[in-house]
Parts: sequence; structure tokens; C-alpha cells
Amino acid sequence: MDLFDPKLPFFKGNLHCHTTESDGKLSPDEVVALYRDLGYDFLALTDHRRLSAPTHLEGCMLLLSGMEMDFTLPGEALHLIGVGMDERLNAYDLSVSPQRCINLYRRCGGRAIVAHPAWSLNTVATLTALRDVTAAEIYNSVSTYPWNGDRADSSNVLDVAAAHGMLYRFVASDDSHRYQGEAGRAFTMVQAEELSQESLFDALDQGRFYCSQGPRFEQISVEDGRIEVTCSPVDTVIFYSNLIWTANRCQTGRDLVCASYAVNRGERYLRIQLIDARGRSAWSNPIVLKP
Ligand SMILES: [Zn+2]
Ligand SMILES: [Zn+2]
Repeated sequence: MDLFDPKLPFFKGNLHCHTTESDGKLSPDEVVALYRDLGYDFLALTDHRRLSAPTHLEGCMLLLSGMEMDFTLPGEALHLIGVGMDERLNAYDLSVSPQRCINLYRRCGGRAIVAHPAWSLNTVATLTALRDVTAAEIYNSVSTYPWNGDRADSSNVLDVAAAHGMLYRFVASDDSHRYQGEAGRAFTMVQAEELSQESLFDALDQGRFYCSQGPRFEQISVEDGRIEVTCSPVDTVIFYSNLIWTANRCQTGRDLVCASYAVNRGERYLRIQLIDARGRSAWSNPIVLKP
């Protein structure tokens, strides 16, 4: 079984950023122009507690409507990105509870993403309790120095949640605020029929996407207890699973463009990380393995 369809294009996007409509330093028009110049195909403006303009094409870039809601829980924060909601959302009070917020995003045609779980100090209990979330940010560009402590990478807590049965799919987002170099550091590649909200959501719902800081997945195939990966040249390919240790987990070399992994007994899922010579990562979604 191939995860990606060789006939379909990948679209590059960022699903989390801020503008002068909340605490971002650039206006919505400036942010759109910046990401267009970086070659992005889609973008969601996700200001705090404020729904951006309805989804529309701006030139050749698809602008998804979006917002970010924030909750304060004991010992942690929980920030929920919503993308693609229509204006019915403005009639609701989203602050009642995180799950109600997710449900309302979806009722209004949108999808929910858990933002920066490591930055938020999210616990596994919180992450495993949520329902109907489309993805979590495995990487958040602004959640590191010089803007924050070093908590951009949420893979650890998401792995623990996965080991406890909650398999989030992953996006990588800039969460750009200051536009001092964080914009364009991490992105999500969605393989869709066409550049429309309906097509992108269809791909998100089916898991036809990965996220990256640079390296590209070309294909991931699952066949007879083996996973085969083809990719742009990288130096390291790591296969993560619910098993604490496996012998063949980490494969290294120079300019690897493929890797292969024999699934071990007891592995319920696998996810793949590529790391290139510049230290940039790409992350696949978890692949559920048949027992
Ligand atoms: Zn946030
Ligand atoms: Zn944010």
C-alpha cells in the first residue's frame, strides 16, 4: 500500500500565523505577500480569538479562514487552531471548554489542530482526552530561541500520547508573530486533487500529508511487514514506534534517498523522521500497522 498517489500534486502551506489583527507585527496583506513570495500554496491567518476572512483564493494562493483559541488548564495551556470555519462560528461562545471549541470548529465546516503541545506543557492525559482533532503541531517555529525557550519540537509528548493510544497526525507551523526569521521555517505538504478547501480537507482527513523544515517524502509504502521510504537526499532516517527499543530504528548514511524497515513484533504504529545534512527534519504521520 502506497501512502501517496504519484498522480497528485503536493501543496505547501502554513496553518498558523498572526497579524496585526492580534499580536503579529505585519498586517494581513503583508503576511500574505510574504508567504506568497516564499512559494506557499496555502496559508491560514490564525489570530487570537478572532476569525479571519472567509476562505478565498488570493492570486494563486488559497487563504483559509482561521483563528486560535486559548485555554488555561491546571499546570498547562491548551491552544487550539481552527481552520476553514465559516462565519456561523462568530455566533458561538468558544471559551466554554476545549472540546466544545473543537466541536464548534467542525460544526462550522472547519478542522481543529492542537498548537505547540510542548510549549504549552500539555500532558498526555489532556492530549488523549481530546476528540475529533485533525492534527497536532509536531513542530512550531516560534517556540524556540531567541523568541522562547527551546520547545519547538513536540515529538516527545506526542510519542507518549501515541504509546497511550492517541495517534495524532502531524503538521508543522511557523506561528509567526514577529517576522524576524521564523516565517518559512516549517511547513505542511498536503497531497490534494486541487487547491481548494474541500480538496485539502479531504487529504487532511485521509492523512495524505507530511510536514517538514526542508526534506521531502516522495513515497512511503507498507507491504508484507516492511516499510519502504523514498525521499530527497538526507543523512538520517528514523523509524519510531510504540516499542522502546528496536535494532534497526536509526539508519544513517550520506545522501540517502531511500530506506527500508522490517516491522517488529508488537509494533502497532510507525512514524518516520528524515534529517538532512543541515539538521532539518521532515515528519511523516503515524502509520497504523495491522496486527
Ligand atoms: Zn498559541
Ligand atoms: Zn499562535
